[in-house]
Amino acid sequence: MSTKKIERLIQPSGTHFVGDGFRVHNIIPGSEGLSMERMSPFIMLDYNAPYYFSPSETPRGVGVHPHRGFETVTIAYQGKVEHHDSSGGGGVIAEGDVQWMTAASGVLHKEFHEEAWSKKGGIFQMVQLWVNLPAKDKMSKPKYQALTNKNIGKVVLADQESMVEVIAGQYAGVTGAAETFTPIHLLNVKLKKGMQANFSFPAAYNTAALVLEGTVAVNGTAVPTNGFVLFENRGEDFDVEATADAVVLVLSGEPINEPIAAHGPFVMNTREELLQAFNDYNEGKFGYLED
Ligand code: MN
Repeated sequence: MSTKKIERLIQPSGTHFVGDGFRVHNIIPGSEGLSMERMSPFIMLDYNAPYYFSPSETPRGVGVHPHRGFETVTIAYQGKVEHHDSSGGGGVIAEGDVQWMTAASGVLHKEFHEEAWSKKGGIFQMVQLWVNLPAKDKMSKPKYQALTNKNIGKVVLADQESMVEVIAGQYAGVTGAAETFTPIHLLNVKLKKGMQANFSFPAAYNTAALVLEGTVAVNGTAVPTNGFVLFENRGEDFDVEATADAVVLVLSGEPINEPIAAHGPFVMNTREELLQAFNDYNEGKFGYLED
């Protein structure tokens, strides 16, 4: 085994609003060197860094829209999101929870701040990750995994306070809560200052880390808050040491080496499949969801 070195350290730049409820840095594919192909199976990563939303009687968010060909993974750090989709799935994701929605053949959904939370307002912090599906699974049945924090396996580290939450994949013998179509490790790492965690993933897996809180050193290199670390596809092992109390999202997945044809809410393999997706959507084949 050898060290997996940092290929690129990215400090996300501008933000934009998704609907009126999510103020995000688009890190994948919006950053230099982080194309969908390079990061596969992670084809999109939006990060809503901590941001204050004033109280609102009308919940802010994104109205009814479709998805086809991939999965949306929403990780709530602060604030609450309410979700509904045309396959009947829905629920509230609160701090520490994860929603893993397999859009696959197609769903309509809407994503809003939860009503009571919206009325109070507060600091909102969230990640939305899109995970691609291999061609053979793109038209499979939609599904919905609501992963509440208590159902997410945790590896408690030596200080008894730091931990690795295993959202998907494995860490130190603990298996993740989410079922995935291709091999993926998705870990939420909470480290007290001075604590360290070690990671090992196959060299070929596309691997990255996002520092959500605090500061860390990755293989000894300082990474600030909001820093995004892309690793080389060589070597397996790296370590993360907290230089202040820190929360780090670590992602590693086997690339899906298939062509990508993406436009807006649809991610397919060919242009013909994209056109089909638009046609099916226009013909109402994604079902119905009330505004
Ligand atoms: Mn969506």
